[in-house]
Amino acid sequence: MINEKYNNKTVFSCEVFPPKRNDDIYEIYKTLDSLKLLKPDFISVTYGAGGSNSKKTATIAAYIQNICEVEALAHMTAVGMTEDMLKSLLFELKKKGIQNVLALRGDRPKTMTEEEFNNRTYRYASDLIPEIRKQGEMFIAGACYPEVHPESKNQEEDIKYLKSKVDMGMDSLMTQMFFSNDVFYDFMEKIRKAGINVPVHAGIMPITAANQLGTSVKLSGSSVPNELSSIIAKYGENPDDMKKAGIEYAINQINDLKKNGVDGIHIYTMNKADITMAIYEGTFA
Ligand code: FAD
Repeated sequence: MINEKYNNKTVFSCEVFPPKRNDDIYEIYKTLDSLKLLKPDFISVTYGAGGSNSKKTATIAAYIQNICEVEALAHMTAVGMTEDMLKSLLFELKKKGIQNVLALRGDRPKTMTEEEFNNRTYRYASDLIPEIRKQGEMFIAGACYPEVHPESKNQEEDIKYLKSKVDMGMDSLMTQMFFSNDVFYDFMEKIRKAGINVPVHAGIMPITAANQLGTSVKLSGSSVPNELSSIIAKYGENPDDMKKAGIEYAINQINDLKKNGVDGIHIYTMNKADITMAIYEGTFA
């Protein structure tokens, strides 16, 4: 389980997502075959909004755990989940030998009405914890937001709920992507002061194409420091130079975080093994 990985070093992990088309499942296996060469402490697999593709998440997590022999962390979301669905998903994961989950609330999928969303069975990520704990030994991670969850009134309220989520039984936290380490350090100071003491994995999204930044920022609400916008202004028109500059930015971000004692680095790979391998070369190799 992932809790065995915390032993005085920066934990290194990657995130992949299931391909949309069934035919592309072999592409993700190829990506995973490359990522496993980096000997990551774990690899996580995302869960489609509202549970779409949930079978693929379990299948890919099983490939990571049993074929790549790397700890797999399966994401799951509360939105759209009934008690029976949660029980059967947990049964499926257990059957496949997966003991690590990232418990999330999820966002309202386009196919769900506001009424359905408001009447959901599990309101928050923390509501999933009791059922997961019934499975016996499980490592449960949760999400956190250095720049505040978009639905929170303010950071104080966000941290208050984060503290109760951890107290309910989250073993570790993984951050939303951020591009300024100062934002992360400020967040860490505040959560530690609030008594949140579990390991926190910093989520790093390499920006290697100019058009990727807009989408990432729109989805995450993360702020963009001048240094990163200058890189895009300078190299955005040239794909090769932009890729190199984006990799270098991520390397610098990670090395600074490591120097400052971060518990873990979690790379949003976007299913691109070559970029993750180049970043690894400049940080953990
Ligand atoms: P929660 O922790 O439940 O918090 C949601 C909001 O409710 C916050 O504003 C919080 O402050 C507030 N809140 C929490 N508890 C309470 C309470 N008891 N009372 C009142 N308010 C409360 N989405 C996917 O669909 N699939 C994925 O695979 C996926 N992976 C992700 C991985 C990471 C690392 C991150 C950071 C996000 C991921 N997401 C994913 C997105 C996530 O589902 C959304 O950000 C979602 O809006 C919030 O999920 P959460 O688990 O953080 O929610």
